[in-house]
Amino acid sequence: MDEAYRLKQELERSKTELGVLYEISNAMRTTLKLDEILYIILTGVTAHTGLGFNRAMLFLVNEKDKIVEGKMGIGPENGEEANSAWTKIDQEKMDLEDLINAFKNSNNSLELGFNRQVRNLKISLSDKIDNPISLAVLEGMPLHLTSETIQNYRNSPVIKMLNSNEVVFIPLKAKDLVNGVIVADNFITKKPITKDDLRMLIMLANQAGLAIENSQLYEKTVDRAHSDYLTNLWNHGYFQFLLQIGMEKARATQTPLSLIMIDIDYFKIYNDSMGHQAGDRILKEMAQILKNQSRKIDSVCRYGGEEFTIILPQTDKKEAFMIAERLRMDIEKHSFLNEDVLPNKKLTVSLGISTFPADGSQPAELITSADKLLYQAKNQGKNTTCY
Ligand code: GH3
Ligand code: MG
Ligand code: MG
Repeated sequence: MDEAYRLKQELERSKTELGVLYEISNAMRTTLKLDEILYIILTGVTAHTGLGFNRAMLFLVNEKDKIVEGKMGIGPENGEEANSAWTKIDQEKMDLEDLINAFKNSNNSLELGFNRQVRNLKISLSDKIDNPISLAVLEGMPLHLTSETIQNYRNSPVIKMLNSNEVVFIPLKAKDLVNGVIVADNFITKKPITKDDLRMLIMLANQAGLAIENSQLYEKTVDRAHSDYLTNLWNHGYFQFLLQIGMEKARATQTPLSLIMIDIDYFKIYNDSMGHQAGDRILKEMAQILKNQSRKIDSVCRYGGEEFTIILPQTDKKEAFMIAERLRMDIEKHSFLNEDVLPNKKLTVSLGISTFPADGSQPAELITSADKLLYQAKNQGKNTTCY
């Protein structure tokens, strides 16, 4: 073969490869939002103008629970879907940047079949014999399974789900720690995965691991800025923000929203006899109870001193009352340290409930209304819910 021609080809390929990596890493710098970062990475892996794999999935390591969790998957479910998606991209001449912008502008294009399947996968890190993902995390090395070797992992949930005969697993690293894994295959075209494909994927993964870590650190910092230092609940400022957007959403979707305001009974007496630090411990414990007994969609906040609020989206007054009463009784039943110093020998709370739209259309109106009802509960002898 003509040596000059071969070199020229190689140079051309390197140029394309560098271009792709450059475009992806640039895109990753435009955002700190984790889901956007993940989408950019997977788009880079699957786009024809990127690495061109048929399908890609991203898993993140959850150190606390010692598992790897599926976070996002991009890919068609079958050949037909693949063809229509790829034709569309081709016809509209969408490049990587267009695809990424399309995602940022769409609210929810990801709740499709394949993505949902990926998001349901949770894999224990201790299971490295049967699970190629855990193996890639624990060894920190890429793993390329071909038709011969893939049989060894046929019981793994990922391999079962993919139903493919060639798959690659590439660990993502931030410094020396593995924080995730990219899984990719060509289950539609059956195009063999080459050394060059792997090399590109590894280079992309090195950037991706760092981008993910940055974004996770950023999200943690933002969370901390919105949290109350003592109870770890949302702080007052963030409560105002959450109520504002919660009400906007309720208005847009024509659903109710309720607000529960909670104040500890006779807390001054507890503080005066047990000391401020003991009082603080009660506040922490109370926060834990409120948090544990609330639903995922609710926002539990520290409104101020010994006052808490809970924002309940999609909840009417009747349902909010049932939730509030359950909380009140849970707290009444809970035994708090030295609660016998209180007039009723029990630590209790009073609660007020307001609901959008009946009690107001603005956040301030809901707050005033809940506050008034809380005051009424105090007047009715405390340990009461008013609505
Ligand atoms: P009521 O049943 O009417 O609510 O009586 P109360 O004694 O709880 O009265 P109020 O709600 O007005 O008093 C709030 C008290 O809560 C005052 C203060 O001693 C205590 N407190 C407020 N913030 C904190 C805090 O951050 N830490 C501690 N330890 N105590 C607090
Ligand atoms: Mg108070
Ligand atoms: Mg009080």
